[in-house]
Amino acid sequence: MTGDVETAIAAAREFLGDRLSTNSSIRAHHSHGEDTQTPRLPDAVAFPTTTEEVARLLALAFAHRVPVVPFGAGTSLEGHVTPVRGGLSIDLSRMNGMLEVNAEDMDCRVQAGATRVQLNEHLRDQGLFFPVDPGSLDSTFGGMCATRASGTNAVRYGTIRENVLGLTVVLAGGRVVRTGGRVRKSSTGYDLTRLFIGSEGTLGIITEIGLRLHGIPEATAAAACQFPTLRGAVETTIAVLQSGIPVARMELLDEVQMAACIAYSRLDGLEALPSLFFEFHGTEASAAEQAARAEEIAVECGAKGFRWATDAADRNRLWRARHDAYWAALALKPGHRSLTTDAIVPISQLDALVLGAKADIEASGFTAPLVGHVGDGNFHSVILVPDEPGALDRAWALDRKIVARALSLGGSCSGEHGVGIGKREFLEAEHGKEAIAVMRAIKSALDPRGLLNPGKMFLDG
Ligand SMILES: Cc1cc2nc3c(=O)[nH]c(=O)nc-3n(C[C@H](O)[C@H](O)[C@H](O)COP(=O)(O)OP(=O)(O)OC[C@H]3O[C@@H](n4cnc5c(N)ncnc54)[C@H](O)[C@@H]3O)c2cc1C
Repeated sequence: MTGDVETAIAAAREFLGDRLSTNSSIRAHHSHGEDTQTPRLPDAVAFPTTTEEVARLLALAFAHRVPVVPFGAGTSLEGHVTPVRGGLSIDLSRMNGMLEVNAEDMDCRVQAGATRVQLNEHLRDQGLFFPVDPGSLDSTFGGMCATRASGTNAVRYGTIRENVLGLTVVLAGGRVVRTGGRVRKSSTGYDLTRLFIGSEGTLGIITEIGLRLHGIPEATAAAACQFPTLRGAVETTIAVLQSGIPVARMELLDEVQMAACIAYSRLDGLEALPSLFFEFHGTEASAAEQAARAEEIAVECGAKGFRWATDAADRNRLWRARHDAYWAALALKPGHRSLTTDAIVPISQLDALVLGAKADIEASGFTAPLVGHVGDGNFHSVILVPDEPGALDRAWALDRKIVARALSLGGSCSGEHGVGIGKREFLEAEHGKEAIAVMRAIKSALDPRGLLNPGKMFLDG
């Protein structure tokens, strides 16, 4: 145990009661995320329901030098939520209230444990929606902010970074800060909101979030488009983006991922071929015009033409299959673990990255379906790792190869999953020594005792 954790647990139990748990299965659930890192049990798990309770927990943790790890839904993929030094896991999932909706200003405020699905259900009758949609439906707004998440709609609506107006954050020791506001822009002060977005629980615990909302488009058109080669699909992506068509979604699935999705999600009428899934938003006329222009480009790149998902049920089936792509990939090889890559490059380099990664995967001997938000220059391969000696090391070697290629093409090791434990080794290569020194200075100013999600982001953090 680290610090005086027993005293801290006893004091926390005084105000949380049975919302402070040392039950072994609850601790086990909070010992890992969706990743291949070694799990580690927290000493206890706290389930606060208010900002004030989070502040009291962080005051206790500071006083007794106990590490704390914020926990949303535990769907992160790089070891983010593993309490590598034990201590308290602070689970925000019971803080899932909808605090206010200002329909006329198209904004709202939610507690950090709320999910996008809950918010969109809450907004259902108001003609508004929140677009950022990580594939894991359970992920919380706090987790999404802390990992700077995105999803299939980012190409049109931006990532979580562009859709957060302000935050309430509890700092080490229990101080509460409010950042940003409700206006669409402000040129005052340092941008503290963006500082906490992507900070992975290492600078503070987010308890409330102000979000931008968007009007539900008058018309939505969705289509799948299949290609004889992966190159054709990637070239279509680049050409569609460069021609300025405002696609709402453009997702790539290679033939291995398509075979998995067809089997898992019963995608009738589609073949196991490299594919792009598209969605267009606008008026009836503008969505149809965007779709026609994109289809023309796809056909020039060798596609057979669009297969339309005409009604809402068809459309939902298509996007549900895309959201289930990870589970479909896992179902290809029961008993295997998965390691998910997350490289991203400037759009003009997408062909070099994707085709190079595909060659690396084939040479590696792994089954690793390829799927991703190519409209942003981002894709994932879900490397399926058998339970054999040395297999995980070989999978990490493949991940490193893909990252090295992305960095050499001016990209990043992670477009949306974040650093956690798994991507720490690339941070300096990507940002340079001086930028890392500034990040470390910020970390020690805000977390002088190194208690907030230790062991993440920096190699010796
Ligand atoms: C099937 C699948 C598909 C996925 N698809 C996508 C995708 O399309 N796009 C994408 O971006 N990601 C995706 N992910 C990754 C994951 O869902 C995201 O990283 C998500 O944002 C994590 O949310 P969470 O609530 O589960 O956070 P957790 O995993 O619980 O936590 C993630 C990090 O945030 C910190 N944290 C959590 N809550 C708070 C808080 N309130 N304050 C401060 N820090 C906090 C944690 O300490 C941790 O460092 C996918 C994962 C899976 C399993």
